[in-house]
Amino acid sequence: MSADGLARQGSGWLRWSLYLSFVLLAALVLVQAAVSRHLERERAADARSAEMAGQQAALALDLWRQAALLGASPQDKPGAADALRDTLALSRANALQVDEALASASTRVLDGPPALSRSVQAWQAARERLWYRAEAVLGLLQGSEVPGADVAAAATLLQGDVEPALTSALALAEQLHAHAELQRVEQWSLLAAGAALALLTLGLLSLAVVEPTARAVDRQVKQLAAQGAELERLALVAERTHTMVLLTDRDDRVLWANEAFTRMSGFTLAEALGRSPGAFLHNPAAAADAVARLRDSVARHAGVRLEVLCATRDGRDLWLDVDVQPLHDAGGVFSGFVSVSTDITRQVNDRTRMATLLAALPAGVLVHSAGGEIVDANRAAEAMLGRSRAELLADVATRWRWDVERDDGSDCPAGELPHARTLRSGVGVRGETLGVRLPDGTQRWLLVNTEPLADAAGSHGVLTCFVDVTETRRLNEQLRTLARTDVLTGLPNRAMVLDRVQRAMTHARRHPGYGFAVLFMDFDRFKQVNDLLGHTVGDALLRQIAERLDTTLRPGDAVARVASQLPMAARVGGDEFVVVLEGMHGSDDVGAVTLRLLAALAQPYTIGPHTVQSGVSVGVVTSAHAADSADAVLRDADTAMYEAKRAGRGRCVFFDSSMHERVAQRLAIEDDLRRALRDDELFVVYQPVVDLADGLPTGVEALVRWHHPQRGLVPPEEFIGVAEEAGLIEAIGAFVLRSACRQFAKWQAALGGLAPRQLAVNLSRVQLQEPGLVAEVRDLLEETGMPPQALQLEVTERQAAQDETIQATLRALKALGVKLALDDFGTGYSSLACLHLLPVDTVKIDRSFVGHAETVEHHRVLIEATIRLARTLGMTTVAEGVETAGQAALMRGLQCDRGQGWLFGRAMPAGELEAWFRSQPARPAG
Ligand code: C2E
Ligand code: CA
Ligand code: CA
Repeated sequence: MSADGLARQGSGWLRWSLYLSFVLLAALVLVQAAVSRHLERERAADARSAEMAGQQAALALDLWRQAALLGASPQDKPGAADALRDTLALSRANALQVDEALASASTRVLDGPPALSRSVQAWQAARERLWYRAEAVLGLLQGSEVPGADVAAAATLLQGDVEPALTSALALAEQLHAHAELQRVEQWSLLAAGAALALLTLGLLSLAVVEPTARAVDRQVKQLAAQGAELERLALVAERTHTMVLLTDRDDRVLWANEAFTRMSGFTLAEALGRSPGAFLHNPAAAADAVARLRDSVARHAGVRLEVLCATRDGRDLWLDVDVQPLHDAGGVFSGFVSVSTDITRQVNDRTRMATLLAALPAGVLVHSAGGEIVDANRAAEAMLGRSRAELLADVATRWRWDVERDDGSDCPAGELPHARTLRSGVGVRGETLGVRLPDGTQRWLLVNTEPLADAAGSHGVLTCFVDVTETRRLNEQLRTLARTDVLTGLPNRAMVLDRVQRAMTHARRHPGYGFAVLFMDFDRFKQVNDLLGHTVGDALLRQIAERLDTTLRPGDAVARVASQLPMAARVGGDEFVVVLEGMHGSDDVGAVTLRLLAALAQPYTIGPHTVQSGVSVGVVTSAHAADSADAVLRDADTAMYEAKRAGRGRCVFFDSSMHERVAQRLAIEDDLRRALRDDELFVVYQPVVDLADGLPTGVEALVRWHHPQRGLVPPEEFIGVAEEAGLIEAIGAFVLRSACRQFAKWQAALGGLAPRQLAVNLSRVQLQEPGLVAEVRDLLEETGMPPQALQLEVTERQAAQDETIQATLRALKALGVKLALDDFGTGYSSLACLHLLPVDTVKIDRSFVGHAETVEHHRVLIEATIRLARTLGMTTVAEGVETAGQAALMRGLQCDRGQGWLFGRAMPAGELEAWFRSQPARPAG
């Protein structure tokens, strides 16, 4: 039971006990009053009776006196008789009254003390006898002849009877007095008892009621005092608090307002008193529904809490968080309102700004609660996610049942979404790309950032911010595809083929027995086509090659049927193509496919008016010999292709590890060569060239030598090729050309008429492609003062025929006045029929022909034809490698102009050669 209930019960009990006590006391007093009155009446009756009994005694004495008088003077009969009669009558009347009085109290008298009743009886008996005697006297007095003596005697008798009557009357009076006294005592004791009872009752009352009441009152007073103090404090708080506090009456009129109210609203208390806050704080811009809610709850005397826009006294906007609560008096009757309001203008402004920002933001923003539900979403988020705010808040709130895909294509479960991870870890996610499936089925890619929303109290959710990167991603994808496609042919490029090879390698590692092969192809004549027929034709050729690769490898074709995976053809360089074959079972499969490809690609190509025929050289790496990276596999295939080229074009060579050794060797030479260039390990030797007709020296050929610190003298065959591949030939060539020309100039000075008249210098293909060559030669000629026609530059027929730019270079060199020689004639492809196309002055017949000229008829015929044709074309001829006098004689006989070979002189260092020249007979001038 509540304290209040207890108090009410206590006070009820107290009230009833008090009432009861009063009733008891009243009843007691009434009873006592009734008893007292009764006793008083009895006492009074007794007193009167006693008084009358006393009168009886007095009357008896009167009778005695009259009797005495009569005895003394019996002759006065008439007077005595009258007096006696009166006295007797009086006595009788008085006795009657006594009787009546006694009769009225007869029970009491009879029940009273026995002495009293005895006195009554004695008095009544004595009285009767007295009266009798008095009557007798009277009777005598009334008789006319009655002697006086009789009268005197009778009077004496009467006198005699007066005494008992007197005595008894006095005794009675005494008894009655005593009785009355007794009654009084009785009455007093009764009163005392009543008083004692009343006192007792009062005592009990005070013990049972008054004391607790007093204590309760005491307590209440203390409580009230404490409450008073508490109220005072509360009042102080209400007064001083920074929140606005208003008390209004039943009609919502202001009764009281605190300081904060004045401060916030600008209204003074006096201005506010008696007015309705809803009226004087009203702001016309306030939201209608908020105002309506407020009015409604005021009308219903109900509490409400809401945010409402109010106006200050000077018209400023004032956002209040209003909490209005009804007040009830002790009786539970509605008595007004207390409203507590906080100024939230800044928060609302902040919120408005934030909301505006969110609405205007082109990025999507979702606010998640600490439980992961979406509690807010901006317009951009709606647009990007294809769902309305309501849908976002309701549907996705707890479930996130949409398809979300990660950047790598894997599904992203709801629990792994960035906001969920941030909720778990408290750490924001940066720049994660996720694909979200929209309700219309399209997929949008979003770049997502999250940030934990925290305040001093800890985590309050997560903010997810995202931008739509679908378009960017699509463009990137396009760029990637473009970056991985060869624009000219539409085939995949190197990057993509590397990917594919890497995948095949990974697959092969995981699945033993799974085979793949990488074919590296190079077109043997592409460069020539490009140079001779132009880039447009070259491009068309590449496209046709791509088409043929595609057709040959197309699904349904035999090639595709062999492979378990679709083969891929790619262009990885100018005329370099790579084919990846997967699911190959052994090298036979690969060989079959390669042969098919070789055959298909070797068919003539028709490009406009041109027909081009070319083979391809193919290098193959099978999974059995695959290195551990795609790059290395491609490199090995390239190596094998190179070997195929070296082995004579139009072939296919399978890579094996020994190739590496060869390559390694080449690499070692390359390294050494660089050092050789730096450390001047290279030097030039000179071999004499003689006139076959008279045997006199005409000139020299400069030949490079390498003095290797470990290997000794290295012949040019071993390093010229490597130098060409390594890009070192230009430096070597320049070195030889410079050294030789300078040496030639020195000889001119030193030997005079004995000096060689011509200097032959070999040019490599790479040198001929170099744009600076012509200028370099011109500068050298100028520098050394060498006549241009004294310099003979030697090129092989392969070089001379190959290239349009080389042709141009050759023409430019010829324009300088320099002589050109076709070196190693007979070893190349060009036929004699092509000789007229070449801008050369000299043809050097290869020593392999010269060496066999005496024994092999075919060679001799060829040499003869060459010499004849050359002469017809105005070219001089040189027989190379003349070792015997027979060979020399034969060549002379065939009308070859000059000879070069060990028979005449080996290649010698400059100094040695100088001596050799001095030892020769001088050529006659002219
Ligand atoms: P080549 O231009 O045909 O040079 C002639 C080669 O035949 C020289 O070999 C020479 O020593 C050799 N020879 C000369 N007479 C005889 C002979 O009677 N019998 C035999 N068996 N050989 C003879 P070498 O010096 O080893 O040069 C080989 C090739 O290396 C040269 O062939 C040339 O193509 C190239 N070469 C040499 N020096 C240079 C150079 O400075 N630049 C370029 N690009 N190539 C060079
Ligand atoms: Ca040569
Ligand atoms: Ca030669």
